[in-house]
Amino acid sequence: MEKPKDKKKPGMYENVLKQFNHAADLMGLDDGVRKILASTNTEISVHFPVKMDDGRIEVFNGYRVQHNNSLGPYKGGLRFHPTVDITATRALAIWMTWKSALAGLPYGGGKGGVTIDPSLYSKGELERVTRRFTYALGENIGPDVDIPAPDVNTNPQIMAWIADTFASTKSPSTRMLNLHVVTGKPVGSGGLKGRDRATGYGVVASIKSWAKLKGIELAGKKFIVQGFGNVGFWASHFMMELDAKLVAVQDASGTIFNPGGIDTEKLHNHVGNNQGVINGYPDAEKIDNDKFFLLDCDIIIPAALGNQITESNAHGIKARLIAEGANGPTDIDGERILLERGIDIIPDILCNAGGVTGSYYEWLQNKRSENYHMHIVLKMITEKLNEAFERTVNTAKKYNTDWRTGAYIAALERIQQTYLERGVFP
Ligand code: NAD
Repeated sequence: MEKPKDKKKPGMYENVLKQFNHAADLMGLDDGVRKILASTNTEISVHFPVKMDDGRIEVFNGYRVQHNNSLGPYKGGLRFHPTVDITATRALAIWMTWKSALAGLPYGGGKGGVTIDPSLYSKGELERVTRRFTYALGENIGPDVDIPAPDVNTNPQIMAWIADTFASTKSPSTRMLNLHVVTGKPVGSGGLKGRDRATGYGVVASIKSWAKLKGIELAGKKFIVQGFGNVGFWASHFMMELDAKLVAVQDASGTIFNPGGIDTEKLHNHVGNNQGVINGYPDAEKIDNDKFFLLDCDIIIPAALGNQITESNAHGIKARLIAEGANGPTDIDGERILLERGIDIIPDILCNAGGVTGSYYEWLQNKRSENYHMHIVLKMITEKLNEAFERTVNTAKKYNTDWRTGAYIAALERIQQTYLERGVFP
């Protein structure tokens, strides 16, 4: 079976810095604040041993990058993927700072992960990798310090192992005070009802705001999704609720296409019974990976990895909207081409902020020993994202710029205000 190349290239970090510098120039960001935000606060690299099922020892590399915590504790996901390295993690941490600031949350930005292909390991081995990684991070994470969450190839189960390991290494009497060291936990372990769907729900909330702004009816619109994991599935699910039509999906195992529509729930069941991949789904045709982004559709939801829309495919894209469920799916050249062609982009730091917003409510729920109802959670996410969408569009209009730069400026204005009010110690 052909496996799509992971189009990782040196770029995500360069992209995030270019985007930052562009926004900083345009808004006239304070020089000192600019220097602070151009570098990360802390970069942690750990190498830790894990015993495999057959008794062998393997040593893994793990990372946690903490970019900025001027607005609150560092917050951001943990990724288990072969492409995880310090540079990619740095880029992702910086994006988290902007995302939390734009969404109006009391968080800074962090990101982490382990360089691993989890499909090659048993559940027991993954549990030991997770627990040993948590132990290696030690006091660098914590409920008021740095709060990880799920990302690519990590899930509620992995979050539960992290919470349990972290709490188990503290005094038993403080166990419950440490539950919110991670968010995205299973509901039985302090997790939030609705956190599973929060990111995909937020992606669709942003698409609805776009449709309202443009006077577009979403029913009947064709969309395609790259990545059918947490974000890709839930975004598809909520798009289907609006009677939009999913016509193609790409994941790590290949690309499937059905112009008549792909049933999201049926595909989800197939993925659940098929080692997490879409390959072999009976009600769609398998097509070449290279054709995916060029398919005839109205909306593209990239919900997998970074650097997927580039100058190599941006010229051929037919959609009117790219809704960035993933972090960094469009590189600088790809974006320039899309904007020249009049294609709208809802930037990642806005479009996928439903995840960190859901995480915020889970953190609050744990801190307050409460349990929120799902409908309250989804309502709160909608309100926060609608505000962030409006702030992005208005800021872009004020500075006569694109939405990504508008989102950056809105985020940077908030962080700048904090630094200017508080000053820099000593
Ligand atoms: P996931 O592990 O649940 O799913 C990832 C999906 O990407 C899988 O379907 C996988 O097969 C696919 N994929 C992997 N390599 C691919 C390749 N080379 N080509 C095509 N598809 C490929 O991960 P997720 O949590 O859904 O995260 C997806 C994206 O959304 C990431 O960029 C992540 O940073 C971002 N994100 C996630 C959250 C969250 O709450 N989970 C929040 C904000 C942003």
